[in-house]
This record gives sequence, structure tokens and C-alpha cells, in this order.
Amino acid sequence: MKIILAKDAGYCFGVREAVKVAYRESENHGEVYMLGHIVHNETVVEDLEKVGAKVVETLEQVPKDRPVLFRAHGTTPEIWSKADEEKLNIVDATCPLVTEIHEEIKQLEKEGRQTIIIGDHGHDEVIGIAAQVDYPIIISNIEEAKELKKMKSAGVVTQSTQMIENVQDIIKVLMTKVFDLRFVNTICYPTRRNHEQIKALAEKCDLMIVIGSFTSANSKRLTQLALERNSKSYQVTCAKDLNIDWFKEVEVVGISAGASTPDSIITSVTEKIRKIGNINKEEVLYD
Ligand code: SF4
Repeated sequence: MKIILAKDAGYCFGVREAVKVAYRESENHGEVYMLGHIVHNETVVEDLEKVGAKVVETLEQVPKDRPVLFRAHGTTPEIWSKADEEKLNIVDATCPLVTEIHEEIKQLEKEGRQTIIIGDHGHDEVIGIAAQVDYPIIISNIEEAKELKKMKSAGVVTQSTQMIENVQDIIKVLMTKVFDLRFVNTICYPTRRNHEQIKALAEKCDLMIVIGSFTSANSKRLTQLALERNSKSYQVTCAKDLNIDWFKEVEVVGISAGASTPDSIITSVTEKIRKIGNINKEEVLYD
């Protein structure tokens, strides 16, 4: 049996940096506070809690003498101003690619367009993007796009982790609804790379393993992309979830992981698969 590991499996640079900052601040200040989970992965959140990075629901729960970390997915202007007013020590770990989306949607609004975000309702990143402008419309699927009324002018951005296929389908519908449509493709390049790799791998391999939490939209999307191309695709959160029966008569196993999956979990899952398949060789990286 052979293992092929997607080269960009796991943390994107935005999440990697935010986690690094959380560890650094906890070490420097004993504690750091985060509004909501820094990444959608229970293991990472638990490990961070052990070193003093605490999750809170509101700014009021943050002690004045401790830093508050703004996560990679972006934070609403309202929370920024509130934290400024309270003179909290803000540590900004917003991913620069998310900031770019904020700038793009503000520009579309300035152009007098109806702003539209293609993204998941209620997702932190989408909430942060929507809060940059006055009356955005959020569309997550083609059915919602079909319900839109006709309009003269609109500008569209996407959540950074959207699947290009979903975006293309929605844009096709919007083209029939909007006279003057401007689309800015803000799917970030780590997501694009990760999606391209899993699509190719799922076609090449007998079995696909996607590592990621079921609370991570990004990991679930990877699983969906793999399943559409290979019915022997499974999502696991850790090595314990692997089922030995999946590996019967399998020669090539492909592995990828969502942007919120830490390296340690990828390593432990890969190690267990090596044991199951009795593999001595290093896994091949798929670029
Ligand atoms: S998924 Fe993309 S935009 Fe989001 S944090 Fe990672 S690199 Fe940044």
C-alpha cells in the first residue's frame, strides 16, 4: 500500500499564524482571550486552553489587563470600536486575505452596487464581511440565488473557503438577474490549492481520507469534493476514527486535511495508516 499526502493539507497560513500568536500571547501574558474559537477544531482549542488561551462569548468577559485576540476569520467593526473604547489590548490576528475581502466589498458598495456575499450563513468570516457594508445579501446556494429579484447593479465577493463550483453556479443565476454585475473572486489561494489537490487525489487514489473536525465547514467541503470523485472517501477527526475495513484491497490511499487541522493530528492519522498498511516508505507528497 502507498500513501499520497496532499502537500497543502492542514493549516492555511492565516490559521497557522493566528494559533502561533495565541501561544505567544498566552506565554507573554499568562492568558489571552478569544471571542469564539480560534479555529474549528476541538483539539486545538483544548490544547490552547491548557496554556491559557481562553474562549469567551463577549468582550465584557475579557479582563482589562489581559490581551484579546481577534481571530483569523475577521472581526466586525462594531467589536473593534467597542474594544477600542474599553481600551482593551487588542492583538489582531486577522488573515490579510480576509482583510482584502473587507476592502473589496467596501469598494463595491462605494461603486453604488448592491453587495452580495457568496458564503455560509452564520459563519464568523461571513458575519465579519457582511458587517463592513450596510445592506449586504448573503447567498449560500443556487436556490437562494434564484429567489433574488432583478436588479440594476450588484457586486459579489465570496467567503474565502467557498468551492469554485458553487460560486460558478450562483454567478450563472446572478447573470440572469443583474444588469451590471461585478464579481471579485475572493476564494483565497490556500483554499484553491487545497481544493485542486483533493480533486486530483480523489481520482488517483483507491481510498481518500480527509482529516478534520465535523464543526469545520472547510473540512466538510473537502470531504464533499472527494466524495463526488471517489465513493471510498471518509472524513475522520483523529486516528481513532479510522476503520481497518476501509483499507481492504486498497493500494493507494490519499490524505488531505482541512485548514483547521493541526499537523500533530495529520501525523498521527498518517502513522496509523502506515501501520494498517504495513508501510515502511515515506509518504509521497502531492503538489
Ligand atoms: S482560509 Fe484563506 S483567508 Fe481564511 S484564514 Fe486561511 S488563508 Fe486566510
